[in-house]
Amino acid sequence: MTVHQYLIPAVASLPEAADLLAEHRGETALYAGGTELLLLMKEKLLRVRRLIDVKRLPGLGEILAEDGSVVIGATARHRTLERPPVLRAACPIVAAVAQHVANVRVRNVGTVGGNLAFADPHSDLATLFLTLDGTVRLWRPPGQRDVPLADFVRGPYDTARAEDEILTAVRLRPWPTGTVATYVKFGMYERPTLGVALTLTLDAGGEAVGARVAVGCVGPRRQRFPGVGRSSRMAPREAPSAPLPRLARAHPVNTRSLHQHQSRILVGVPDRT
Ligand SMILES: Cc1cc2nc3c(=O)[nH]c(=O)nc-3n(C[C@H](O)[C@H](O)[C@H](O)COP(=O)(O)OP(=O)(O)OC[C@H]3O[C@@H](n4cnc5c(N)ncnc54)[C@H](O)[C@@H]3O)c2cc1C
Repeated sequence: MTVHQYLIPAVASLPEAADLLAEHRGETALYAGGTELLLLMKEKLLRVRRLIDVKRLPGLGEILAEDGSVVIGATARHRTLERPPVLRAACPIVAAVAQHVANVRVRNVGTVGGNLAFADPHSDLATLFLTLDGTVRLWRPPGQRDVPLADFVRGPYDTARAEDEILTAVRLRPWPTGTVATYVKFGMYERPTLGVALTLTLDAGGEAVGARVAVGCVGPRRQRFPGVGRSSRMAPREAPSAPLPRLARAHPVNTRSLHQHQSRILVGVPDRT
């Protein structure tokens, strides 16, 4: 099987790609880095007749600042998240976490859009992006709609994307000044088995005024715990333990295998904006 057998040649614009998706509904898929898609096709878990290469569509790979947010184009690859000054300035933890996704081969070709659209529960970006109020941008004629990431992912490999919609970007809202954060990842065989994003916002006096917690990989959907840190100001010594009781609500699918591999900590990324 070669990709070129399947690729529809010379698809040059979003409207053209969306028309083709609608016209060949059920037998066409969008192809970005192919790191997940080609595996599914090889294993005959997905049978499609044609592929549309979204990487060739203009303007989908850009990373821009927009109205106080950062917009990451769908075809930006994991490797490209490491460098852009706009992302390093506004959301430096994204660059740091991207360096620890998968392996160098996957990071070179795998895209942010493919990662989110695939909705694998084992995604680092989707868990981290929940704490950055991630919003997914979907496009089909006549226009686009923005869907909060928390609503976009409905379950494992299941999203709110209609068959003829194209994920064009994800928008992130940087944390307030004075936020410290960490992303902790436990993993095996290159995929995460637990990802936890924690942020703590401190006021000028160093007092904790807010916290965000998102947990991924252990349940069918990654979860943000919205009540954490909102109810009251936390004294610094209370803050680290405050979110922990709520983590019990994550409903792990298989705690036994989790415990077996808990010692494999691949990354802990402290950060300050
Ligand atoms: C060995 C291995 C290890 C990995 N480890 C990690 C890890 O540690 N952390 C992590 O977060 N991820 C990990 N991944 C997942 C990896 O991040 C994704 O495979 C990659 O980002 C998917 O992007 P892609 O461009 O290759 O998508 P593709 O394989 O091209 O597409 C995936 C799916 O998304 C659809 N799609 C692609 N682009 C769009 C679009 N613009 N709009 C709508 N639908 C679209 C495709 O039709 C397909 O269904 C790993 C993957 C592998 C193979």
